[in-house]
Amino acid sequence: MSSSLIEHIATICGSLPSSVRVIAVTKTVPAELMRYAYAAGVRDFGESRIQEAARKQAELQDLSDVTWHLIGHLQSNKAKKALEQFQWIHSVDNLQLAERLNQLASQLGVSPQVCLQVKILSDANKSGWNVPELLADLNKLNQYKNLQIQGLMTIPRAGLDAAETLDVFNRTAQLAKEIKAQNWSHMKMQHLSMGMSGDYQLAVQAGATMVRLGTILFGQRF
Ligand SMILES: *Cc1c(COP(=O)(O)O)cnc(C)c1O
Repeated sequence: MSSSLIEHIATICGSLPSSVRVIAVTKTVPAELMRYAYAAGVRDFGESRIQEAARKQAELQDLSDVTWHLIGHLQSNKAKKALEQFQWIHSVDNLQLAERLNQLASQLGVSPQVCLQVKILSDANKSGWNVPELLADLNKLNQYKNLQIQGLMTIPRAGLDAAETLDVFNRTAQLAKEIKAQNWSHMKMQHLSMGMSGDYQLAVQAGATMVRLGTILFGQRF
């Protein structure tokens, strides 16, 4: 079991271009299994719940070269905890949250890496900026100097076919490019966090630099 899981994870990670960082999404995955991912070379873990992550971070303290990524929606009242526990936050999805994170980051003396979550198509089930809102907020976001705004994150809405999904990823990449071309003094826009188990190959095709993989690495979540 253990060695075949390690091989399985290593094979999937090895199938991706070396420029693509695999975030192993470990929500509901026990810490013991996360050690196999580590043994397979994974150094980035993605969690969507603060408390669950805290428990596993305590159990895995000895893995000192791991980077922790928050990928789930973050409520403002948990922003401080998020900053204490995670080096990356992929799910910064509105201006108020960004402002709060910036303030707290200053107080805590940290400078988290963040992605701005964007919705290319409207989706009532997902949080995130729609494109015009994001463009309108860039000027303010650029002033949040304690945040290292690294790029965009997107989750295509449910029910799209492959061509539509690829289109969403391509449009996200294009949007990042447009923002980058505006030469903001502070925002880098060099990362695209997109692609999950069912669509990561399309995301990579469109230029993803980070894919967030759960099921395909660890099996179905229960
Ligand atoms: C759960 C989750 C993933 C991983 O999904 P899989 O389909 O299991 O790969 C990726 N991103 C986010 C934001 C998630 O919540």
